Amino acid sequence: MTESLTARVALVTGASRGIGRAIALALARAGADVAVNYLEREADAQATAGQIRALGRRAEAFQADVSRTVEVAGLVEQVGHQFGRIDILVNNAGIALRRGLDELTEDDFDRTLLVNLKSAFLCTQAVFPGMRERAWGRIINISSGAARGAGVVGAHYNASKAGMEGLTRGYAARLARDGVTVNAVAPSLIETDMTGPLRAENAARIPVGRMGTGDEVAMAVVMVAGNGYMTGQTVQVNGGLHFN
Ligand code: NAD
Repeated sequence: MTESLTARVALVTGASRGIGRAIALALARAGADVAVNYLEREADAQATAGQIRALGRRAEAFQADVSRTVEVAGLVEQVGHQFGRIDILVNNAGIALRRGLDELTEDDFDRTLLVNLKSAFLCTQAVFPGMRERAWGRIINISSGAARGAGVVGAHYNASKAGMEGLTRGYAARLARDGVTVNAVAPSLIETDMTGPLRAENAARIPVGRMGTGDEVAMAVVMVAGNGYMTGQTVQVNGGLHFN
């Protein structure tokens, strides 16, 4: 039913581990070649790329801090050079600095907005012109249930993810006629390094009775990438935590 992703080129940010890694592998299984962006842990990024190649797709690992303009420009240029183009962009890179209201600093706020929100803006600005020119593109932003709900990380994190959903709708409206869809996938409480310390305290309150997996988030991303009629939406993957 979904459109084939065969021979499409995907760039997934923060794909050396966790949800990003699961997304990179799922897109490859759906037929895409994948550029695996990472910030640190080069060995993990190379392992992800190796697993994708074992699936018969092309893959390379590219180091870049996607919160920095120059590094994003370099990343997109290198991927373009090696793969020819970028058809699917998944803005997954993110940080969750857990802070109570009384300990939250301006630095925490700025860093969170830079990594979680500005990175998505920088990557989108760098790739959409090529997508528009080829009249085909998919941009998928990994938001969070915290964009609309209380969340467990902090107000700075809520703000960064709500901003990401605003960015999603802003681009979606302006790119719909150009064959480029822009959507968000919003997970909550997925088992990764990010949620390690939260596992025990949270699993019990999730209606389905367990935390989610990166693969379950990746399934939603592949669905969105294969659907040309869906744009400006947020798909929640949250075990029934909330329904908005
Ligand atoms: P994770 O910490 O395992 O992965 C985050 C990845 O982003 C890491 O690979 C990290 O190196 C990378 N990254 C961070 N800053 C970067 C930068 N400046 N440049 C490039 N890469 C950078 O966490 P995860 O759970 O896999 O999170 C992936 C995304 O999902 C994040 O955006 C996160 O906010 C979101 N999310 C996660 C959950 C959850 O329950 N795990 C819930 C909601 C949203």
